[in-house]
Amino acid sequence: MTAWKNLSLTSQILLAMLAGIALGVLLNIVGNDFIQQYIVNGIFNVIGKIFIAALKMLVVPLVFVSLLGGVTSLGDVKAMGRIGVKALSLYLLTTALAISIAIGLAVSLSPGSAAGLSSNMEFAGKSAPPLSQVLIDIVPNNPIAAMAEGNMLQIIVFALLFGTAITLAGERGKHVLNFFLDLNEVIMKMVLIIMKLAPIGVFCLITKTFAIQGLAIGGDLLGYFLTLIAALLVHASLSYTILLRVLTGLSPLIFLNKMRAVLVFAFSTASSNATIPVTLKTVEEKLGVKNSVASFTVPLGATINMDGTAIMQGVATVFIANVYGIDLGITDFLTVILTATLASIGTAGVPGVGLIMLALVLEQVGLPVEGIALIIGIDRLLDMLRTAVNVTGDAAVTTIIAKSESAFDKEVFKDPAAGVVQPASN
Ligand code: ASP
Repeated sequence: MTAWKNLSLTSQILLAMLAGIALGVLLNIVGNDFIQQYIVNGIFNVIGKIFIAALKMLVVPLVFVSLLGGVTSLGDVKAMGRIGVKALSLYLLTTALAISIAIGLAVSLSPGSAAGLSSNMEFAGKSAPPLSQVLIDIVPNNPIAAMAEGNMLQIIVFALLFGTAITLAGERGKHVLNFFLDLNEVIMKMVLIIMKLAPIGVFCLITKTFAIQGLAIGGDLLGYFLTLIAALLVHASLSYTILLRVLTGLSPLIFLNKMRAVLVFAFSTASSNATIPVTLKTVEEKLGVKNSVASFTVPLGATINMDGTAIMQGVATVFIANVYGIDLGITDFLTVILTATLASIGTAGVPGVGLIMLALVLEQVGLPVEGIALIIGIDRLLDMLRTAVNVTGDAAVTTIIAKSESAFDKEVFKDPAAGVVQPASN
Protein backbone atom coordinates (compact mmCIF):
# COMPACT_ATOMS: atom_id res chain seq x y z
CA MET A 1 0.00 0.00 0.00
CA THR A 2 2.81 2.44 0.87
CA ALA A 3 4.56 1.44 -2.35
CA TRP A 4 1.39 2.38 -4.23
CA LYS A 5 1.18 5.70 -2.37
CA ASN A 6 4.77 6.53 -3.22
CA LEU A 7 4.09 6.26 -6.94
CA SER A 8 3.47 9.41 -8.92
CA LEU A 9 -0.09 9.95 -10.07
CA THR A 10 0.90 9.22 -13.68
CA SER A 11 2.33 5.84 -12.69
CA GLN A 12 -0.77 5.04 -10.66
CA ILE A 13 -3.01 5.90 -13.61
CA LEU A 14 -0.91 3.78 -15.98
CA LEU A 15 -1.01 0.82 -13.61
CA ALA A 16 -4.75 1.26 -13.16
CA MET A 17 -5.15 1.11 -16.93
CA LEU A 18 -3.11 -2.09 -17.25
CA ALA A 19 -4.95 -3.72 -14.34
CA GLY A 20 -8.24 -2.70 -15.94
CA ILE A 21 -7.27 -4.28 -19.26
CA ALA A 22 -6.24 -7.53 -17.53
CA LEU A 23 -9.35 -7.77 -15.36
CA GLY A 24 -11.65 -6.73 -18.19
CA VAL A 25 -10.31 -9.39 -20.54
CA LEU A 26 -10.57 -11.97 -17.77
CA LEU A 27 -14.17 -11.03 -17.02
CA ASN A 28 -14.95 -11.16 -20.71
CA ILE A 29 -13.68 -14.73 -20.85
CA VAL A 30 -15.08 -16.11 -17.60
CA GLY A 31 -17.87 -13.66 -16.85
CA ASN A 32 -21.36 -14.99 -16.24
CA ASP A 33 -24.65 -13.09 -16.31
CA PHE A 34 -24.33 -12.03 -12.69
CA ILE A 35 -20.89 -10.53 -13.26
CA GLN A 36 -21.96 -8.78 -16.46
CA GLN A 37 -25.11 -7.38 -14.93
CA TYR A 38 -24.02 -6.35 -11.47
CA ILE A 39 -20.27 -5.92 -11.61
CA VAL A 40 -19.54 -4.79 -15.16
CA ASN A 41 -22.73 -2.92 -16.03
CA GLY A 42 -23.33 -2.16 -12.36
CA ILE A 43 -20.39 -1.08 -10.24
CA PHE A 44 -17.77 -0.44 -12.95
CA ASN A 45 -20.25 1.30 -15.20
CA VAL A 46 -21.53 3.62 -12.47
CA ILE A 47 -18.12 4.61 -11.13
CA GLY A 48 -16.72 5.05 -14.65
CA LYS A 49 -19.63 7.24 -15.74
CA ILE A 50 -19.36 9.35 -12.57
CA PHE A 51 -15.68 9.89 -13.31
CA ILE A 52 -16.35 11.04 -16.88
CA ALA A 53 -19.15 13.31 -15.69
CA ALA A 54 -16.82 14.84 -13.10
CA LEU A 55 -14.27 15.61 -15.79
CA LYS A 56 -16.87 17.01 -18.17
CA MET A 57 -18.31 19.14 -15.38
CA LEU A 58 -15.08 21.16 -15.36
CA VAL A 59 -14.64 21.61 -19.10
CA VAL A 60 -16.94 24.60 -19.73
CA PRO A 61 -16.01 26.69 -16.66
CA LEU A 62 -12.34 25.90 -17.16
CA VAL A 63 -12.22 26.75 -20.85
CA PHE A 64 -14.13 29.99 -20.38
CA VAL A 65 -12.23 31.29 -17.39
CA SER A 66 -8.83 30.12 -18.57
CA LEU A 67 -9.35 31.65 -22.00
CA LEU A 68 -10.30 34.99 -20.45
CA GLY A 69 -7.00 34.93 -18.58
CA GLY A 70 -5.20 34.01 -21.81
CA VAL A 71 -6.75 36.73 -23.94
CA THR A 72 -6.24 39.46 -21.38
CA SER A 73 -2.62 38.53 -20.81
CA LEU A 74 -2.00 38.74 -24.56
CA GLY A 75 -3.56 42.16 -24.39
CA ASP A 76 -3.49 42.56 -28.13
CA VAL A 77 -6.04 41.56 -30.71
CA LYS A 78 -3.38 41.15 -33.39
CA ALA A 79 -1.52 38.50 -31.40
CA MET A 80 -4.77 36.64 -30.92
CA GLY A 81 -5.50 36.71 -34.64
CA ARG A 82 -1.99 35.49 -35.39
CA ILE A 83 -2.28 32.58 -32.96
CA GLY A 84 -5.70 31.73 -34.38
CA VAL A 85 -4.39 31.61 -37.94
CA LYS A 86 -1.38 29.51 -36.93
CA ALA A 87 -3.57 27.11 -34.96
CA LEU A 88 -6.10 26.69 -37.74
CA SER A 89 -3.41 26.14 -40.39
CA LEU A 90 -1.43 23.65 -38.32
CA TYR A 91 -4.52 21.75 -37.20
CA LEU A 92 -5.76 21.42 -40.76
CA LEU A 93 -2.30 20.52 -42.03
CA THR A 94 -1.76 17.75 -39.47
CA THR A 95 -5.22 16.34 -40.12
CA ALA A 96 -4.66 16.29 -43.89
CA LEU A 97 -1.26 14.67 -43.31
CA ALA A 98 -2.80 12.08 -41.00
CA ILE A 99 -5.45 11.02 -43.45
CA SER A 100 -2.98 10.90 -46.32
CA ILE A 101 -0.77 8.52 -44.32
CA ALA A 102 -3.85 6.44 -43.53
CA ILE A 103 -4.94 6.18 -47.16
CA GLY A 104 -1.38 5.42 -48.29
CA LEU A 105 -1.03 2.58 -45.80
CA ALA A 106 -4.53 1.23 -46.37
CA VAL A 107 -4.08 1.16 -50.15
CA SER A 108 -0.80 -0.73 -49.82
CA LEU A 109 -2.02 -3.19 -47.19
CA SER A 110 -5.46 -3.46 -48.74
CA PRO A 111 -7.51 -4.67 -45.76
CA GLY A 112 -10.84 -6.28 -46.66
CA SER A 113 -9.98 -7.04 -50.26
CA ALA A 114 -10.05 -10.82 -49.81
CA ALA A 115 -13.23 -10.56 -47.84
CA GLY A 116 -16.28 -12.65 -48.15
CA LEU A 117 -17.80 -10.21 -45.75
CA SER A 118 -21.22 -8.91 -46.23
CA SER A 119 -23.08 -6.39 -44.20
CA ASN A 120 -26.57 -7.41 -43.31
CA MET A 121 -26.79 -4.91 -40.49
CA GLU A 122 -28.29 -1.50 -40.91
CA PHE A 123 -26.47 1.66 -40.05
CA ALA A 124 -28.62 4.73 -39.78
CA GLY A 125 -26.24 7.52 -40.77
CA LYS A 126 -26.67 10.76 -38.89
CA SER A 127 -25.16 13.41 -41.09
CA ALA A 128 -22.48 15.87 -40.08
CA PRO A 129 -23.53 19.52 -40.50
CA PRO A 130 -22.69 21.29 -43.80
CA LEU A 131 -19.77 23.72 -43.71
CA SER A 132 -21.94 26.81 -44.19
CA GLN A 133 -23.94 25.92 -41.08
CA VAL A 134 -20.73 25.26 -39.16
CA LEU A 135 -19.57 28.79 -39.99
CA ILE A 136 -22.90 30.38 -39.00
CA ASP A 137 -22.97 28.38 -35.76
CA ILE A 138 -19.58 29.66 -34.64
CA VAL A 139 -21.19 32.81 -33.24
CA PRO A 140 -23.58 32.03 -30.37
CA ASN A 141 -27.12 33.44 -30.30
CA ASN A 142 -27.02 33.04 -26.60
CA PRO A 143 -23.77 32.53 -24.69
CA ILE A 144 -25.53 30.91 -21.74
CA ALA A 145 -27.13 28.37 -24.05
CA ALA A 146 -23.72 27.78 -25.66
CA MET A 147 -22.29 26.99 -22.24
CA ALA A 148 -25.24 24.83 -21.27
CA GLU A 149 -24.76 22.80 -24.45
CA GLY A 150 -20.99 22.77 -24.09
CA ASN A 151 -20.58 24.17 -27.61
CA MET A 152 -16.85 24.72 -27.59
CA LEU A 153 -16.43 26.95 -30.66
CA GLN A 154 -19.21 29.27 -29.45
CA ILE A 155 -17.73 29.42 -25.96
CA ILE A 156 -14.34 30.27 -27.45
CA VAL A 157 -15.80 33.09 -29.56
CA PHE A 158 -17.67 34.57 -26.59
CA ALA A 159 -14.63 34.31 -24.32
CA LEU A 160 -12.41 35.98 -26.94
CA LEU A 161 -14.82 38.90 -27.25
CA PHE A 162 -15.35 39.17 -23.51
CA GLY A 163 -11.61 39.07 -22.83
CA THR A 164 -10.90 41.72 -25.46
CA ALA A 165 -13.60 43.95 -23.94
CA ILE A 166 -12.11 43.49 -20.46
CA THR A 167 -8.78 44.78 -21.77
CA LEU A 168 -10.47 47.74 -23.46
CA ALA A 169 -12.46 48.61 -20.33
CA GLY A 170 -9.35 49.79 -18.45
CA GLU A 171 -9.56 50.10 -14.65
CA ARG A 172 -13.06 48.67 -14.38
CA GLY A 173 -12.10 45.77 -16.61
CA LYS A 174 -9.28 44.95 -14.17
CA HIS A 175 -11.78 44.32 -11.36
CA VAL A 176 -13.65 41.85 -13.53
CA LEU A 177 -10.41 40.24 -14.64
CA ASN A 178 -9.09 39.75 -11.11
CA PHE A 179 -12.23 37.91 -10.18
CA PHE A 180 -11.81 35.53 -13.12
CA LEU A 181 -8.09 35.02 -12.49
CA ASP A 182 -8.87 33.98 -8.91
CA LEU A 183 -11.66 31.76 -10.17
CA ASN A 184 -9.20 30.13 -12.56
CA GLU A 185 -6.99 29.11 -9.62
CA VAL A 186 -9.99 27.63 -7.85
CA ILE A 187 -11.09 25.64 -10.91
CA MET A 188 -7.56 24.34 -11.43
CA LYS A 189 -7.70 23.00 -7.88
CA MET A 190 -10.92 21.21 -8.80
CA VAL A 191 -9.11 19.65 -11.75
CA LEU A 192 -6.43 18.44 -9.37
CA ILE A 193 -8.98 16.85 -7.06
CA ILE A 194 -10.63 14.98 -9.94
CA MET A 195 -7.24 13.92 -11.30
CA LYS A 196 -6.37 12.35 -7.97
CA LEU A 197 -9.42 10.16 -8.34
CA ALA A 198 -8.29 9.14 -11.82
CA PRO A 199 -6.72 5.77 -10.93
CA ILE A 200 -10.11 4.53 -9.69
CA GLY A 201 -12.06 6.11 -12.55
CA VAL A 202 -9.68 4.84 -15.22
CA PHE A 203 -9.62 1.36 -13.71
CA CYS A 204 -13.42 1.09 -13.76
CA LEU A 205 -13.81 2.53 -17.27
CA ILE A 206 -11.17 0.30 -18.79
CA THR A 207 -12.35 -2.84 -16.98
CA LYS A 208 -15.89 -2.27 -18.21
CA THR A 209 -14.85 -1.64 -21.81
CA PHE A 210 -12.66 -4.71 -22.04
CA ALA A 211 -15.17 -6.89 -20.18
CA ILE A 212 -17.73 -6.05 -22.85
CA GLN A 213 -15.43 -5.85 -25.84
CA GLY A 214 -12.90 -8.56 -25.10
CA LEU A 215 -9.89 -8.88 -27.34
CA ALA A 216 -11.19 -11.21 -29.98
CA ILE A 217 -11.31 -9.61 -33.39
CA GLY A 218 -12.03 -11.99 -36.17
CA GLY A 219 -11.15 -12.47 -39.79
CA ASP A 220 -10.95 -9.51 -42.08
CA LEU A 221 -11.71 -7.05 -39.35
CA LEU A 222 -8.29 -7.89 -38.00
CA GLY A 223 -6.79 -6.48 -41.20
CA TYR A 224 -8.76 -3.26 -40.71
CA PHE A 225 -7.84 -3.12 -37.03
CA LEU A 226 -4.11 -3.65 -37.60
CA THR A 227 -3.88 -1.27 -40.56
CA LEU A 228 -5.58 1.40 -38.50
CA ILE A 229 -3.28 0.88 -35.54
CA ALA A 230 -0.24 0.97 -37.83
CA ALA A 231 -1.39 4.28 -39.32
CA LEU A 232 -2.07 5.75 -35.86
CA LEU A 233 1.37 4.69 -34.69
CA VAL A 234 3.14 6.05 -37.76
CA HIS A 235 1.42 9.41 -37.41
CA ALA A 236 1.91 9.68 -33.64
CA SER A 237 5.52 8.60 -33.67
CA LEU A 238 6.72 10.16 -36.94
CA SER A 239 4.62 13.17 -37.98
CA TYR A 240 4.56 14.85 -34.58
CA THR A 241 8.16 13.93 -33.88
CA ILE A 242 9.35 15.46 -37.13
CA LEU A 243 7.15 18.55 -36.81
CA LEU A 244 8.28 19.16 -33.24
CA ARG A 245 11.96 18.65 -34.07
CA VAL A 246 11.94 20.75 -37.22
CA LEU A 247 9.70 23.59 -36.05
CA THR A 248 10.83 23.87 -32.42
CA GLY A 249 14.06 21.91 -31.97
CA LEU A 250 12.50 20.35 -28.84
CA SER A 251 12.91 16.70 -27.89
CA PRO A 252 9.90 14.64 -29.02
CA LEU A 253 10.81 12.00 -26.45
CA ILE A 254 10.41 14.41 -23.55
CA PHE A 255 7.18 15.60 -25.12
CA LEU A 256 5.70 12.11 -25.43
CA ASN A 257 6.91 11.07 -22.00
CA LYS A 258 5.22 14.04 -20.38
CA MET A 259 2.02 13.31 -22.27
CA ARG A 260 1.52 9.85 -20.70
CA ALA A 261 -1.23 10.78 -18.26
CA VAL A 262 -3.12 12.74 -20.93
CA LEU A 263 -2.95 9.74 -23.25
CA VAL A 264 -4.44 7.44 -20.61
CA PHE A 265 -7.22 9.93 -19.88
CA ALA A 266 -8.02 10.22 -23.58
CA PHE A 267 -7.83 6.44 -24.00
CA SER A 268 -10.15 5.67 -21.12
CA THR A 269 -12.72 8.42 -21.75
CA ALA A 270 -12.59 8.27 -25.59
CA SER A 271 -13.31 11.97 -25.53
CA SER A 272 -10.93 14.82 -26.38
CA ASN A 273 -13.44 17.19 -24.83
CA ALA A 274 -13.58 15.44 -21.47
CA THR A 275 -9.76 15.35 -21.51
CA ILE A 276 -9.40 19.15 -21.95
CA PRO A 277 -8.77 19.84 -18.23
CA VAL A 278 -5.92 17.33 -18.14
CA THR A 279 -4.47 18.42 -21.49
CA LEU A 280 -4.52 22.05 -20.42
CA LYS A 281 -2.92 21.31 -17.07
CA THR A 282 -0.23 19.16 -18.69
CA VAL A 283 0.79 21.52 -21.49
CA GLU A 284 0.99 24.41 -19.05
CA GLU A 285 2.60 22.77 -16.04
CA LYS A 286 4.67 19.99 -17.59
CA LEU A 287 5.45 21.18 -21.12
CA GLY A 288 5.94 24.84 -20.22
CA VAL A 289 3.37 26.42 -22.55
CA LYS A 290 2.04 29.76 -21.33
CA ASN A 291 -1.66 30.03 -20.59
CA SER A 292 -2.01 32.82 -23.18
CA VAL A 293 -1.54 30.24 -25.96
CA ALA A 294 -2.73 26.99 -24.34
CA SER A 295 -6.07 28.35 -23.14
CA PHE A 296 -6.92 29.13 -26.76
CA THR A 297 -5.34 26.34 -28.77
CA VAL A 298 -6.18 23.35 -26.51
CA PRO A 299 -10.00 23.72 -26.51
CA LEU A 300 -9.87 24.75 -30.16
CA GLY A 301 -7.85 21.62 -30.96
CA ALA A 302 -10.21 19.36 -29.00
CA THR A 303 -12.97 20.59 -31.26
CA ILE A 304 -11.43 21.00 -34.70
CA ASN A 305 -8.35 18.80 -34.64
CA MET A 306 -8.89 15.08 -34.92
CA ASP A 307 -5.95 13.42 -36.55
CA GLY A 308 -6.70 9.98 -35.14
CA THR A 309 -10.29 10.23 -36.28
CA ALA A 310 -9.21 11.31 -39.76
CA ILE A 311 -6.91 8.28 -39.89
CA MET A 312 -9.82 6.01 -39.03
CA GLN A 313 -11.84 7.58 -41.83
CA GLY A 314 -9.07 7.05 -44.37
CA VAL A 315 -8.56 3.40 -43.46
CA ALA A 316 -12.30 2.71 -43.10
CA THR A 317 -13.05 4.19 -46.52
CA VAL A 318 -10.49 1.98 -48.23
CA PHE A 319 -11.64 -1.05 -46.21
CA ILE A 320 -15.31 -0.57 -47.05
CA ALA A 321 -14.50 0.06 -50.72
CA ASN A 322 -12.50 -3.20 -50.77
CA VAL A 323 -15.24 -5.20 -49.08
CA TYR A 324 -17.83 -3.99 -51.55
CA GLY A 325 -15.41 -4.38 -54.45
CA ILE A 326 -15.60 -0.72 -55.44
CA ASP A 327 -12.54 0.93 -56.98
CA LEU A 328 -11.57 4.35 -55.73
CA GLY A 329 -9.56 6.70 -57.92
CA ILE A 330 -7.23 9.56 -57.05
CA THR A 331 -10.09 12.10 -57.18
CA ASP A 332 -12.02 10.02 -54.67
CA PHE A 333 -9.05 9.97 -52.33
CA LEU A 334 -8.64 13.74 -52.61
CA THR A 335 -12.36 14.09 -51.85
CA VAL A 336 -11.92 11.88 -48.78
CA ILE A 337 -8.98 14.00 -47.56
CA LEU A 338 -10.87 17.25 -48.07
CA THR A 339 -14.18 16.06 -46.61
CA ALA A 340 -12.64 14.41 -43.56
CA THR A 341 -10.48 17.46 -42.83
CA LEU A 342 -13.38 19.90 -43.12
CA ALA A 343 -15.85 17.65 -41.30
CA SER A 344 -13.56 17.58 -38.29
CA ILE A 345 -14.07 21.35 -37.84
CA GLY A 346 -17.76 21.12 -37.11
CA THR A 347 -17.87 18.04 -34.92
CA ALA A 348 -16.92 18.04 -31.26
CA GLY A 349 -14.46 15.58 -29.71
CA VAL A 350 -16.84 13.19 -27.99
CA PRO A 351 -17.02 9.38 -28.13
CA GLY A 352 -18.12 7.88 -31.40
CA VAL A 353 -18.39 11.11 -33.35
CA GLY A 354 -15.88 9.78 -35.86
CA LEU A 355 -18.46 7.37 -37.24
CA ILE A 356 -20.86 10.23 -37.95
CA MET A 357 -18.15 11.99 -39.88
CA LEU A 358 -17.35 8.76 -41.68
CA ALA A 359 -20.94 8.59 -42.95
CA LEU A 360 -20.42 11.98 -44.57
CA VAL A 361 -17.13 10.92 -46.14
CA LEU A 362 -18.60 7.70 -47.55
CA GLU A 363 -21.52 9.59 -49.05
CA GLN A 364 -19.16 12.04 -50.77
CA VAL A 365 -17.37 9.26 -52.63
CA GLY A 366 -20.50 7.23 -53.30
CA LEU A 367 -19.72 4.32 -50.98
CA PRO A 368 -22.56 2.58 -49.10
CA VAL A 369 -23.03 4.14 -45.67
CA GLU A 370 -24.27 0.76 -44.37
CA GLY A 371 -20.62 -0.32 -44.63
CA ILE A 372 -20.17 1.32 -41.23
CA ALA A 373 -22.11 -1.57 -39.72
CA LEU A 374 -19.13 -3.78 -40.57
CA ILE A 375 -16.75 -1.92 -38.29
CA ILE A 376 -19.03 -0.59 -35.59
CA GLY A 377 -18.57 -3.67 -33.40
CA ILE A 378 -14.91 -2.96 -32.76
CA ASP A 379 -15.13 0.80 -32.89
CA ARG A 380 -15.05 1.50 -29.16
CA LEU A 381 -11.51 0.25 -28.71
CA LEU A 382 -10.36 2.06 -31.83
CA ASP A 383 -12.15 5.20 -30.65
CA MET A 384 -10.07 5.07 -27.47
CA LEU A 385 -6.85 4.74 -29.44
CA ARG A 386 -7.64 7.46 -31.96
CA THR A 387 -8.70 9.86 -29.19
CA ALA A 388 -5.23 9.42 -27.68
CA VAL A 389 -3.76 10.45 -31.05
CA ASN A 390 -6.20 13.38 -31.29
CA VAL A 391 -5.05 14.87 -27.99
CA THR A 392 -1.37 14.28 -28.85
CA GLY A 393 -1.96 16.42 -31.93
CA ASP A 394 -3.61 19.16 -29.88
CA ALA A 395 -0.68 19.27 -27.48
CA ALA A 396 1.98 19.09 -30.21
CA VAL A 397 0.47 21.97 -32.19
CA THR A 398 0.01 23.96 -28.98
CA THR A 399 3.68 23.49 -28.12
CA ILE A 400 4.80 24.48 -31.62
CA ILE A 401 2.71 27.66 -31.58
CA ALA A 402 3.80 28.58 -28.05
CA LYS A 403 7.44 28.25 -29.04
CA SER A 404 6.95 30.43 -32.10
CA GLU A 405 5.16 33.06 -30.00
CA SER A 406 7.82 32.97 -27.24
CA ALA A 407 5.07 31.90 -24.87
CA PHE A 408 7.09 28.92 -23.76
CA ASP A 409 9.33 28.06 -20.82
CA LYS A 410 12.08 25.68 -21.88
CA GLU A 411 13.20 25.08 -18.30
CA VAL A 412 9.80 23.68 -17.42
CA PHE A 413 9.83 21.53 -20.55
CA LYS A 414 13.21 20.05 -19.65
CA ASP A 415 12.49 19.58 -15.94
CA PRO A 416 11.28 15.98 -15.35
CA ALA A 417 9.73 17.02 -12.01
CA ALA A 418 7.72 19.93 -13.42
CA GLY A 419 4.00 19.59 -12.81
CA VAL A 420 4.32 16.06 -11.42
CA VAL A 421 1.50 15.42 -8.97
CA GLN A 422 2.19 13.28 -5.94
CA PRO A 423 -1.11 11.70 -4.92
CA ALA A 424 -0.42 12.41 -1.25
CA SER A 425 0.44 16.08 -1.81
CA ASN A 426 -2.05 18.89 -2.12
N1 ASP B 1 -13.71 10.19 -29.64
C1 ASP B 1 -12.96 11.05 -30.50
C2 ASP B 1 -12.53 12.30 -29.73
O1 ASP B 1 -13.17 12.68 -28.79
C3 ASP B 1 -13.72 11.42 -31.72
C4 ASP B 1 -13.98 10.17 -32.56
O2 ASP B 1 -13.07 9.78 -33.28
O3 ASP B 1 -15.05 9.60 -32.48
O4 ASP B 1 -11.55 12.90 -30.05
